[in-house]
Amino acid sequence: MTMHHSIFVLTVLCGSGTWTYQEKDKSKINSIDMRFLRLLNGKTLMNKMMGDTGAMNGMAYCRGNAEDFNNWATLGNSGWSYKDLLLYFIKSEDNGDKEIVEHNPEYHGIGGYQRVERFRYQDLNAKIILEAGKQLGYKIVDVTGKDQLGTMIMQTITKDGQPKSTNSAFIQPIRNASLKSAKVAYAKKEVISSTGTVSSPKLLMLFGIGPADDLKKLGIKVVAASPVGKNVQDHVTFNGVSLQLNEKTATEKSFKSKQEDSELYLKTHTGPLSSTGAATLSLFTQTKYAEIDGAPDDQIYFISKSTADIDIFKVHSYYDTLLVYLFVLGSKSKGYLKLNKTDPIWGNPFIYPGTCKMGPKEDPGAVVDPRLKVYGVPGLRVVDAAIMPHNIRGNPHATIMAIAEKAADMIKEDWCHH
Ligand SMILES: Cc1cc2nc3c(=O)[nH]c(=O)nc-3n(C[C@H](O)[C@H](O)[C@H](O)COP(=O)(O)OP(=O)(O)OC[C@H]3O[C@@H](n4cnc5c(N)ncnc54)[C@H](O)[C@@H]3O)c2cc1C
Repeated sequence: MTMHHSIFVLTVLCGSGTWTYQEKDKSKINSIDMRFLRLLNGKTLMNKMMGDTGAMNGMAYCRGNAEDFNNWATLGNSGWSYKDLLLYFIKSEDNGDKEIVEHNPEYHGIGGYQRVERFRYQDLNAKIILEAGKQLGYKIVDVTGKDQLGTMIMQTITKDGQPKSTNSAFIQPIRNASLKSAKVAYAKKEVISSTGTVSSPKLLMLFGIGPADDLKKLGIKVVAASPVGKNVQDHVTFNGVSLQLNEKTATEKSFKSKQEDSELYLKTHTGPLSSTGAATLSLFTQTKYAEIDGAPDDQIYFISKSTADIDIFKVHSYYDTLLVYLFVLGSKSKGYLKLNKTDPIWGNPFIYPGTCKMGPKEDPGAVVDPRLKVYGVPGLRVVDAAIMPHNIRGNPHATIMAIAEKAADMIKEDWCHH
């Protein structure tokens, strides 16, 4: 994401307020993201804030599995193997956890824009589950290092106990006042859509880049026929087993104690409110259906919840129940995303990457080439989760940063010699 200042590119990535998307088939939805965002009468809210999902996510720092990227390269995307991308994972990272860096120096970086650390406050139940995992034979690993199979208290994209979104990590340090007030901008060299896996295909289709028949039906002039929106993948999960905790392990507190915790957090960025409770722990495991050695096919995750509150995504610090969540990794089902006259329509399953798939020229499903340029439309690139040919095995935020870092280098290669 580091950008050479003399390059004139326009990146569409900002906004303020909220977009609302209506789900097409709610009964079949089982995506954690959609449930989190489904706040208003079954409508999905996408935030119009700088950084959007990257600014309101669970903060877990994970890179998926090396074989995910080796598969991208095998599909004809040269330059996208794990070895190629590791450079960019390291480049963006400012890892504040000495133990992790010293243990796996070849996998971690210091001095990048994105601070990575562990929450200062360690949740009691996360520690108990970690110990239980050890007793069951799960290795304690650094899931962003060589081995992903095992368990750990995850690192997070936070700085000194506060969330560090891509906006605050990458944009704010270089943001200048003239850009802040720009309402209309013109690009001399190229336009980059970094509007995320829903908005990037939506923008492309509104500009006439997409499935020709669908666009014609909506009266949109076809600029380039392209399989935009066809490769949608899900981060499939299920509602989880609910475990009631006893008084020794439940972390519910009196209102007064919560007030004291709030004051502590505001003053020092520590205490229970500086963490996401038991959700800081993940277990990456293989079921009997796993296909690749060393690559997990599920991620077990624990969501802390209070029985008094039906909303499972409120403050994670005080709870008397744990929901055991299981994310299916490497799932093969694909959905699609189309434009409606009013809002995008969703096919099922949905959310998550792939809506502007990266692939070689011969791939009929590819929307962008391995340099992230849109086929058939000179001067247009997509740089966000939408380009992933296949979802990765884990939380995707770090991978999206690596994609952006690599894109920044490709843009510099393309323009800096002129
Ligand atoms: C509830 C939730 C929890 C998550 N937890 C984790 C986690 O713990 N770890 C992890 O690794 N991943 C997590 N993720 C996933 C991760 O946050 C996203 O996959 C990632 O942030 C997507 O990055 P992106 O750059 O592709 O899109 P985004 O982060 O969505 O960025 C898109 C940008 O484009 C802007 N934009 C959109 N449309 C327009 C438009 N029309 N005009 C102008 N600007 C526009 C947005 O405002 C935003 O700035 C979570 C996601 C959700 C929803």
